[in-house]
Amino acid sequence: MTKRTGSCLCGARRYEIDGEIGGVWVCHCSLCRKVTGSSGISILIVPKGQFRWVAGEDHAVTFALRSTYTITRCKTCGTPIPAEMDEHNVYVTAGTLDVPLGEGIRAHLFCASRADWDRDDPDARSFDERSV
Ligand SMILES: [Zn+2]
Ligand SMILES: [Zn+2]
Repeated sequence: MTKRTGSCLCGARRYEIDGEIGGVWVCHCSLCRKVTGSSGISILIVPKGQFRWVAGEDHAVTFALRSTYTITRCKTCGTPIPAEMDEHNVYVTAGTLDVPLGEGIRAHLFCASRADWDRDDPDARSFDERSV
């Protein structure tokens, strides 16, 4: 069975995901934009039985912004590894995977809230590494 690993920037929080989980959900709502300071948040929806903490499950701080919206970060490095969960699933930030997913983005959510700059200009350039 496929096993994927993930971690925060400092490595204090580490997890494993068993089996296939499908592609990435990207939420562009105003809360996700603010809480990441970016274009949104990229999430893997993982059935609870396929997710487990390897280290640092309790090495976290959770900000309860609203009754329906919380964000959990590593308390050392601040990496958002939400791992918020509901009855069935754990919601894992896709950028914390340490290995390839082998899947692409499956859906963009709250596109009406998308920042107006969240698109490529016609002359946008791409670099394989930082070039500045
Ligand atoms: Zn960390
Ligand atoms: Zn959102």
